[in-house]
Amino acid sequence: MQDLTEIPVAISSPENIREYFSRYILEVKKLSSGSAYNYQRGLKKVSHFMKEMGLVEESIYEIGTIEELDFAWKRLKADSQFSDMDKSGHRMFSSGFNCYRKFATGELFHEYSSVDVKNLDKPMKLETPIKVEYKLWKRSGIMRTQTVALANFTCDIDHSHDTFIAASTGHPYMEAHHIIPIKLQERFSSSLDVYANLISLCPLCHRKIHLGIREERRLMIDGIYENRKDRLAKCGFVFGKEEFEDLVLGV
Ligand SMILES: [Zn+2]
Ligand SMILES: [Zn+2]
Repeated sequence: MQDLTEIPVAISSPENIREYFSRYILEVKKLSSGSAYNYQRGLKKVSHFMKEMGLVEESIYEIGTIEELDFAWKRLKADSQFSDMDKSGHRMFSSGFNCYRKFATGELFHEYSSVDVKNLDKPMKLETPIKVEYKLWKRSGIMRTQTVALANFTCDIDHSHDTFIAASTGHPYMEAHHIIPIKLQERFSSSLDVYANLISLCPLCHRKIHLGIREERRLMIDGIYENRKDRLAKCGFVFGKEEFEDLVLGV
């Protein structure tokens, strides 16, 4: 019952992504080897600049998420030397990046859906795992379990939401969610891992409250606020409604 969306790290295996990308542009996108070469060359330069700016260790291929990819590109474009070189070089860097971004988001797969992605299947290199260190605020697994039991194994958004019977409990499967995210703990002097800040959600509502569009998340959060504001205040978290929305939705 851990909060999957709070696990922080995604790091690509750069060599494999590079290989997939180059096979992709030749075998799926079917570019001539000349234009494939140009894209690769553009991307190589992009990697070089990213490395110089400390955004990557070696290459763009190690960036693990679209958000980080966009962040790195934004930083690069803000660099005048880079954008001047891009302009004078017929936007070779931009077109290399755009092609790679489309590959990374899956847009190109979609565009060429008639082409079989199975063409890319082959054994890929297995890299040694890396050790990752990060700060993790303590949160109790027992309190998560209790939260779900306290809600009588129902979803606090709507008790009629249906899931499936969990093998571990023999009861409907639900997940515990921290209303004010634990990642904001640094802003507060008392613990966010308190009963008042925990609710039980069905898996769909749980994904939605983390990943849904802002307006729908706001509706969910407003209901939770009305329900929990007094209990949260007793634990030291006193907010007006708008302040609470901004905090939880992320401004
Ligand atoms: Zn959650
Ligand atoms: Zn639900």
